[in-house]
Amino acid sequence: LEFKLSRFETSVSRRYPEVKFLNYLTRKRILITGGAGFVGSHLVDRLMFEGHEVIVVDNFLTGRKRNVDHWIGHENFELIHHDIVNPLFIEVDEIYHLASPASPPHYMQNPVKTIKTNTVGTINMLGLARRVNAKILIASTSEIYGDPDIHPQPETYWGHVNPIGPRACYDEGKRVAETLTYAYAKQENMRVRVARIFNTYGPRMHMNDGRVVSNFILQALKGEVITVYGSGEQTRSFQYVSDLVDGLIALMNSNYSQPVNLGNPVEHTINEFATIIKELVDDRSKISHLAEVEDDPQRRRPDITRAKTYLNWEPKVPLNVGLQKTVDYFKKELQRFNYSPRA
Ligand code: NAD
Ligand code: UDP
Repeated sequence: LEFKLSRFETSVSRRYPEVKFLNYLTRKRILITGGAGFVGSHLVDRLMFEGHEVIVVDNFLTGRKRNVDHWIGHENFELIHHDIVNPLFIEVDEIYHLASPASPPHYMQNPVKTIKTNTVGTINMLGLARRVNAKILIASTSEIYGDPDIHPQPETYWGHVNPIGPRACYDEGKRVAETLTYAYAKQENMRVRVARIFNTYGPRMHMNDGRVVSNFILQALKGEVITVYGSGEQTRSFQYVSDLVDGLIALMNSNYSQPVNLGNPVEHTINEFATIIKELVDDRSKISHLAEVEDDPQRRRPDITRAKTYLNWEPKVPLNVGLQKTVDYFKKELQRFNYSPRA
């Protein structure tokens, strides 16, 4: 038999980033749901570098193959196209359950699918963890605190969520995901972890996910007006993605089973944030105020005492450093689509 390269192949074997070698006693089989998304793909990189076997399950609703393309074909890596609303039967030691749309425009586009993913999908992943006795970490969110009336938010705060508002599909979906997690843990004696993730940014964020970080950077790069919704006096605290990945792994490896906030406690108003982006990207940018968004949380900042105490974790990357890396990424993305940033 004669094998010839098809015109789609450039070489017979690919080159991969270097990974550590772990023996079978220390190497784990780790499932990452939503591993082709923004956060998931960075977690994939870290666990691959550490030498584990990583299985990504994703339906590519908001993620994309390109985020994990550099591992496809690697003997420690597997990519499964699957929607977690349907059950999954595989053998794993640990599950990082991240699958869910995450930006407000994305989850509002299909609220029913968002609820199904966070409820039925989470039941499927908890069921899988129970069957194979795997440890499971659920990616929850600061949104479970809603528009908080306690500031900063500690994990003991029960939240202030509108159950029928435009954000409810996500907020309530994640609240049920947490409830399910602790119900399974109690009834089935399972090992569970819950990360309440605050606003996170970095390379591989979607260009068009409508979040404030991607919107403002792209607007400034393209010479468009920076759009502040409402007064701009609402606040957020922004965490760089590598800090989050450190926190997720520390939480999974800890013995702590209660929810843990993972976020950067440095808080900015959206007006301040617009000015930071303008100064970083292009000082000629104009800032304008549009109508306010319904049910927009007015203040958000994590109390990270728990993460410091139980995980010995705190964020390390300053905003200007993380933002510069993100701006560089978006510049390259624009060039990919033949759009030259304003000179
Ligand atoms: P993302 O949209 O980039 O990634 C989510 C991934 O899940 C995508 O790859 C998507 O295709 C996949 N997915 C969605 N529904 C699915 C389904 N039914 N079956 C299989 N795959 C599915 O979002 P992200 O920012 O990487 O967020 C990851 C997780 O972290 C989410 O659970 C999100 O709620 C949580 N989180 C993120 C932030 C943040 O600021 N990025 C903040 C709080 C919580
Ligand atoms: N926001 C804004 N302009 C934009 C996008 C978002 O002023 O172009 C505001 C939004 O109203 C909110 C904050 O920025 O107050 C963060 O929004 P994002 O969608 O990034 O995340 P959220 O924390 O609301 O989930």
